[in-house]
Amino acid sequence: MSRPLNADIDLDALRHNYRLARGLAPHSRTLAVLKADGYGHGAIACARALDGLAPAFAVASLEEAASLRMAGITTPIVLMEGIFEASELGDVEALNLWMAVHSDWQVEALLAYRPAHPIPVWLKVDSGMHRLGFAPHRAEAVWARLAAASAQACDLHLMSHFATADAMEPGYFHQQMAVLSKLAERLDAPLCLANSPATLAWPQAYGAWNRPGVMLYGSDPLEASNATSRQLRPVMTLRSAIIAVQTLAAGEPVGYGGRWKAPRPSRIAVVAGGYGDGYDRHAADGTPVLVAGRRAALVGKVSMDMLTVDITDIPEADIGSEVVLWGRAATGEVLSVDEVARHCDTISYTLLTGVLPRVPRRYHGGAD
Ligand SMILES: *Cc1c(COP(=O)(O)O)cnc(C)c1O
Repeated sequence: MSRPLNADIDLDALRHNYRLARGLAPHSRTLAVLKADGYGHGAIACARALDGLAPAFAVASLEEAASLRMAGITTPIVLMEGIFEASELGDVEALNLWMAVHSDWQVEALLAYRPAHPIPVWLKVDSGMHRLGFAPHRAEAVWARLAAASAQACDLHLMSHFATADAMEPGYFHQQMAVLSKLAERLDAPLCLANSPATLAWPQAYGAWNRPGVMLYGSDPLEASNATSRQLRPVMTLRSAIIAVQTLAAGEPVGYGGRWKAPRPSRIAVVAGGYGDGYDRHAADGTPVLVAGRRAALVGKVSMDMLTVDITDIPEADIGSEVVLWGRAATGEVLSVDEVARHCDTISYTLLTGVLPRVPRRYHGGAD
């Protein structure tokens, strides 16, 4: 018998979530963000499952794009941060990629380059995130230079990123939107603005393109979920099993440092799965886990290969019982990665991208 921990990837759920995103914005084209190895799900498998459905993909680096091309993916791919050095332009062209430009040096490199065909370019504007992009007052001049460089750049779009589209307090989102609307009008530019939270909650951000990421994987990024976000389906199920059961007397501790002590005579399940697999060591006592489809509480510190769960109230649970750390149990019961993340003082993005290579990915569904 092999170690029972696996990441089961439901590619039908991925397609469902993609269709949900697309259905919200029927007048936009919706690309699928596949950076960080498809948020930990396996970018190649996700790209294949979405091929023919998504008109484009987006990644964070040339290497990520190259691995998709090597796997035979021919769908357009956007480099959301563009190039990291001028020497990458040859590969951008050879791999037939689209690229964001966010800095003067990228514009200079592009304009000094002689591609056989112009490269589709998305001009990134900093509308308030203050991470990447040109200040709004400079966007017009840069746009004009790119527009005039018809041998180097084509298909210009304006791109920007929201800092607070997930928040219940909409003030800053509206501020960013006001900057962008003004710019778009002056430049008559097609837009690509909406990440997952904006796709779910802010139709006024929809542009020629939308670019959701995490929602495609079934995580709800909104501070307050809405009717659509509640229809998302988890794509990854981090599934394991009980490998041992401890019977403790009241007062006996569990695990490193004895952080948790049994308040009553307790049955404790030892589960294959720990921080050496990417399960967050910050998981607090009480972090939910599904044991045989029923909610139970993680107790004691997570160790590298194992974690411990109080199954006192689940008498039918025993060695070999299914344990779902997040995702969908065999019974159909769902434990959202967002809920687990809250108990780890983090967000779903870190948990999903943090599942380490030691955990086998098993793919299900995904065909037409
Ligand atoms: C990661 C990323 C996205 C997708 O964000 P989600 O919150 O996962 O939808 C969109 N745009 C940019 C620039 C990104 O880096």
